[in-house]
Amino acid sequence: MDFQISPSQREMMAATEKLCRQLLPLAHEAHAKGTAEALNGLRREMAKNGLLGLNLPAAYGGLDMPLLDTLLLLQVVQSVDSTMGGLTHRTSTGAVGAVLEIGNEEHKRVFVGGVARGEIGISIGITEPEAGSAATAMRTRARIEGDDVVINGQKIFISAARDNHATLLYCRFGNTGRASDIGALLLPHDAPGLTISSGTVNMAGERQYELFFSDCRVPRANILAEGNAFGKLISVYNVERLGSIARMLGSAQASYDYALSYVKERKQFGRELADFQGLQWMLAEMKVKLEAAQLLTWRAAANTAAGLPSPLETSVAKVYVAQAAKEICDDAIQLLGGYGYMTEYPVEGRYREVRGGSIYGGTLQIHKNMIASHILKRKNSQWAGKAEE
Ligand SMILES: Cc1cc2nc3c(=O)[nH]c(=O)nc-3n(C[C@H](O)[C@H](O)[C@H](O)COP(=O)(O)OP(=O)(O)OC[C@H]3O[C@@H](n4cnc5c(N)ncnc54)[C@H](O)[C@@H]3O)c2cc1C
Repeated sequence: MDFQISPSQREMMAATEKLCRQLLPLAHEAHAKGTAEALNGLRREMAKNGLLGLNLPAAYGGLDMPLLDTLLLLQVVQSVDSTMGGLTHRTSTGAVGAVLEIGNEEHKRVFVGGVARGEIGISIGITEPEAGSAATAMRTRARIEGDDVVINGQKIFISAARDNHATLLYCRFGNTGRASDIGALLLPHDAPGLTISSGTVNMAGERQYELFFSDCRVPRANILAEGNAFGKLISVYNVERLGSIARMLGSAQASYDYALSYVKERKQFGRELADFQGLQWMLAEMKVKLEAAQLLTWRAAANTAAGLPSPLETSVAKVYVAQAAKEICDDAIQLLGGYGYMTEYPVEGRYREVRGGSIYGGTLQIHKNMIASHILKRKNSQWAGKAEE
């Protein structure tokens, strides 16, 4: 066990922060414009600067970093800017991981290579209106017809769908109604029969999209797995969860850093805010939570040297980090007083960024169910009418 960040990791983190600060005006412009064109311009610049595809294999144009280093750098990128954090996350720890794990050589060449070069973005399509936490209740169906797959159904809350070029679509290939029907395919966003909604703005100012499929046709060659893949897809999805967790750490770190400098500047009662013991204890608690949250995340990432992340370590990190990040960001607002609540200051936005982390990638309650199931060694089925095993 080694609890130190190495000198070379520190160097990479410092260099990454410097690069991100140089790209910050472009990131602000992309965020302000909110168009796919502006975001894709930023994506290409980030690719040129080695900020995408951090853990993707060098053979497909990635940087071949271990997951731990990837998460360290992702935290840095997110601490500088959330739009850039989203791009580094989705092109490194995002849906592209499933293509690497279960795709064939052609899928990898086109999709993994395209993502690493900053030419393609891939969303992930799991959630449906009637299948949220109960993801295996999904109804979107794929029927094979000659060289095509014909898709009917609907997805909801899909991140970045209008900015990205394809979606890793979870859907049913069989008719048994069981989870074993679920497979996945790569859905190009220009597929005939696909409609992407104009989106709903979330609390962090990003859009979540609905995908509607009406006899949507995709080449059969885009299938990653014709069923029997849900377990494998979710195992790979734990990498995505760790990426989102690193983003929460980045936002919490930025809030903590901002509040720490603020209390040393702002004076009340003729003294620095940092002189008041009540506030010192808040800072101490923020620091303890940030370090504990980082250590749980880094453990889960370091233990992937032998393969995919442990589901238990991922859920433990997710539950703790999501809670800690909300508390750290909330305390940062409190330390800034009225200014913290104003949009001119960066801390209220950081709170809005981390709030979604308790919901997406499996809600905190669902992760606690998984942790309880592990420690009690019971399946704890959540389905109506099914007894605990
Ligand atoms: C910002 C954001 C980005 C997202 N991006 C994507 C994306 O890119 N792709 C995608 O496919 N989806 C995405 N989602 C959807 C997300 O995965 C779902 O919102 C999430 O899985 C919860 O489903 P639901 O919203 O239907 O809530 P529900 O499942 O209806 O849950 C409502 C409440 O009930 C609780 N609950 C439900 N079942 C249980 C149980 N068995 N035990 C205890 N509590 C339970 C939940 O914890 C929650 O508090 C995103 C969501 C958000 C907020």
